[in-house]
Amino acid sequence: MSDPSESVRVEGVHLLRDRVALQEALAELRERGDSLALVPTMGYLHEGHLSLVDQAHGSADTVLLTIFVNPLQFGEGEDLEHYPTDLEGDVRKARARGVTHIFAPPVSEMYPDGPPVIRVDPGPMGKRLCGISRPHHFPGVLTVVARLFALIRPDVAVFGRKDYQQAVLIRQMVRDLALDVDVQVGPLVREHDGLALSSRNVYLSPIQREVAPRFQAELARAASDFLGGMTEARHLVSGVRDRLERGGGMRVEYIEVVHPETLLPMETARVGAVLAGAVHIGSTRLIDNVLLGVRDEDPRLPPSDRSRRA
Ligand code: AMP
Repeated sequence: MSDPSESVRVEGVHLLRDRVALQEALAELRERGDSLALVPTMGYLHEGHLSLVDQAHGSADTVLLTIFVNPLQFGEGEDLEHYPTDLEGDVRKARARGVTHIFAPPVSEMYPDGPPVIRVDPGPMGKRLCGISRPHHFPGVLTVVARLFALIRPDVAVFGRKDYQQAVLIRQMVRDLALDVDVQVGPLVREHDGLALSSRNVYLSPIQREVAPRFQAELARAASDFLGGMTEARHLVSGVRDRLERGGGMRVEYIEVVHPETLLPMETARVGAVLAGAVHIGSTRLIDNVLLGVRDEDPRLPPSDRSRRA
C-alpha cells in the first residue's frame, strides 16, 4: 500500500496512487456511464469528512475520495511535517461509507513538474479572515482543487462548511473560470460538546481539549444575542473576543461578522451572516463559524462514539 506506483484493490476499494491508475479507473467509470462525485481531503478522516461522502452518494453514482496533504497550502512553520496521516484507517473508514475509489497520490504524482509556477489567485476574498495570517493558504488550496478538477473531471464536488471561506472561494473560482463542476457544501459536524471536528484536534492535550469547546459555545452565544436583537457586529464580535480571552487558554486570531457570499465585513449583522473566527490553543490553530439567525442544525456526534473520531 505504500508503493505509490501501485493501483491496488484493498478490501473492495480501488486505492489509486498515480495518475495513470486514476485515468484507467476513470475510463472504466465513464464507460459504465457513472456520474462522479469528488470529495477532496487531506486524510486522517473523521465524521466531518464522512458526512461529505454521504452527501456525495446522494448526488452521483460513484464517489471518489482524494487524500492529499497539499504542501502548497502550508506556510513556513505550519504543521505540514506533522500533519496526521493514517492511510489504512482512512481506507477502512471510507470503504465502510461506500467509497470505491480513493486517489492518494504522493507529491511527485500531484506535481510531477515540481511546484506549479502558475497558481490560482483567490483575489481580495482570499486576503480576508484566514488569508490575513495565512497568505499562501488559499492560492495553494485553489491550485490543488483546480488540478484535481482537471485530472478527475467530476460532475459534483463536495466541501464542508467548516472551512467556510474555502467553500466560498471554490464556488467563486468555479464561476470565474467557468469550470464545469457542481460545488456542494455539506454541514459542519461537531463533537457532542460543540467542538468542530478537525484532523488537527488530535494535537490538543487533554486540558486543551477541555478548553476548546468554549470557542463554539461563545460563537453560539453571540448567535443567540443576535436573535435577541443585538445586530451591531462590533458588539457581537467584542463579546465573543472578550469572553474567550477572559476565559484563558486561548488566543483569538480573529472574530468577524461577514457577508455569506462576499465575505465583506458587515457593520450590522443580518440573517444568514457568518460569524467566523480562528483561535490558537497552544500551538494548535482552530477555525469555526456559525450562521446568524439560521437554526443551528450542525450535526453532533454522541458523547460515547469514540470509534467515529479520527
Ligand atoms: P481537510 O481534510 O481538513 O482538508 O478537509 C477536507 C474537507 O472536509 C473540507 O471540505 C472540509 O471543509 C471538510 N471538513 C473538515 N472538517 C469538517 C467538519 N467538522 N464538518 C464538515 N466538513 C468538514
